[in-house]
Amino acid sequence: MKVVLKNLTKIFPSRNKKSGEEVVAVNNFDFEIPDGKLIGLLGPSGCGKSTTLYMISGLQKPTSGRIFFGEDDVTELTPENRGIGLVFQNYALYPHMTVKQNIMFPLQNLKGADKLSKEDMLKRSYEVAELVQIDELMDRKPSELSGGQQQRVAIARALVKMPRVLLLDEPLSNLDARLRLQTREEIRRIQRNTKITTIFVTHDQEEAMSISDYIVVMKLGVVQQTGKPQAVYDDPTNLFVAKFLGTPPINVFNGKVSGEKIYIGDEAVMDAKGVADQEVYVGIRPEGFMVDKNGKFTCKVEGVDVMGRDISVISTNAASINPVIRSIISADDIAVAKETTVKYNLKPHKVFIFNKETENRIYFGEQLATHEALLKQEQQEKEAEETAEEA
Ligand code: ADP
Ligand code: MG
Repeated sequence: MKVVLKNLTKIFPSRNKKSGEEVVAVNNFDFEIPDGKLIGLLGPSGCGKSTTLYMISGLQKPTSGRIFFGEDDVTELTPENRGIGLVFQNYALYPHMTVKQNIMFPLQNLKGADKLSKEDMLKRSYEVAELVQIDELMDRKPSELSGGQQQRVAIARALVKMPRVLLLDEPLSNLDARLRLQTREEIRRIQRNTKITTIFVTHDQEEAMSISDYIVVMKLGVVQQTGKPQAVYDDPTNLFVAKFLGTPPINVFNGKVSGEKIYIGDEAVMDAKGVADQEVYVGIRPEGFMVDKNGKFTCKVEGVDVMGRDISVISTNAASINPVIRSIISADDIAVAKETTVKYNLKPHKVFIFNKETENRIYFGEQLATHEALLKQEQQEKEAEETAEEA
C-alpha cells in the first residue's frame, strides 16, 4: 500500500498562554512512500516525527493537507478505519492479560463481515506470534517477559489485523543496546516477509540508516532531505543533514573559498573549480583523510584509537568547530601516533562545503555531476516502481 502525504501541516496552539506563540510541529510535509518499503523518519527530538506518524495513524488531525493510502483519501477516517498497526516506545500491553490474549485483543472488536470465529482468531494469533518468534510464550503475562519480548508482543498485536500500513514510533528506545540491535534486525526481517509498508520513527541515525529503504530527515517540522540512506550520507543537501548522519560525525571547520581553492586556516586544502570567493563551512567525513607527509592539511596529533583494521586519529586544528577532529585511517599508518603533527590530503568526494549563512551545500568539481546523477537515478527508480505497480 503506497502512502501519500500531501502538504501535511500540523500547528499546535501555544502551551504557554502568555507567549501565545503557536508551534508548527510539521510544516508542509510532501512525500510519497512507495508500496512495501520501510521508511525511516529521522531527526532530533521535537522535530515533528511523532506528530507526522500520529497524523498518518489518525490519532491527530492535520491542520491542513491530505493523506492517501493508495488511492483512498483517509484524512477524515478514524484510526480504527484506516487499517494501520501502531507500535510505541513503551509497549503498552495489557498487564492482566496473557500474551495470547494481548495479541488476540484487536481481533475481538471486529464487526460485521470482518468478524472472526474464536478458532480463526487463535490461528491468526499463533501465525503472527510465530512470525515474531514468541509462540512459545503465549501463556505468560507481560511481566514475565523481557523488554525485547514485550516489544515483540506489541509488534504481533499490531500485525494481527494485517494492517495496510505499519507505524512504529521509536520502538527500540526502551531496549538495551544488544536487544536493540537484535530487534531492529527482526523488524527488518518481518517487514521483508510481510511486505507491509512501514514507517519507522527514530532519532538514532545509525538505526535508521541500517534498516530503511529510504530515510526522511526532518528538522523543526521541515523535511530536509529524502533518499536512500547511502545516497543521503554521500550527498547531503545542507550542513544539518551532513552533521546528523554518520559515526563518528563529520568534522566541520571554518573556512573560505578564495581563487577557486578551499582554505582551512591559511592552508589551501583542495580545489573548488567554479566557486566564487566566500566564507564557508568545510565538512570532512572521518574516512576522507589520507595521511601523506606532503599533505596540504596539517593537524596537531592528540591521540590514536586502534580499532582493529582501522585506526582513528584524534587531532586538533585552530579552525575546527568540533573540539577534536576524528579521522579514520588505515592501521598501516600507525606511525602518526608518534608524531606531534599529521599532514593529510583529502578525498574530494568526502569534502563538502556549505554557505555560511544558509548552511546549504555548495557543489564543486565532480560533485555537481554526482549529485545530478543521483537525482536522475532516484527519478528512474521511482518511475520503474510506478510502472511495476500499474502492471
Ligand atoms: P518528535 O517526535 O520528533 O520528538 P513531536 O512530533 O513530538 O516531535 O513534536 C514536534 C513539536 O510539536 C515539538 O515542538 C513539540 O513540543 C510540539 N508538540 C507536540 N505535541 C504537542 C501538543 N499536543 N501541543 C502542543 N505542542 C505539541
Ligand atoms: Mg516522538
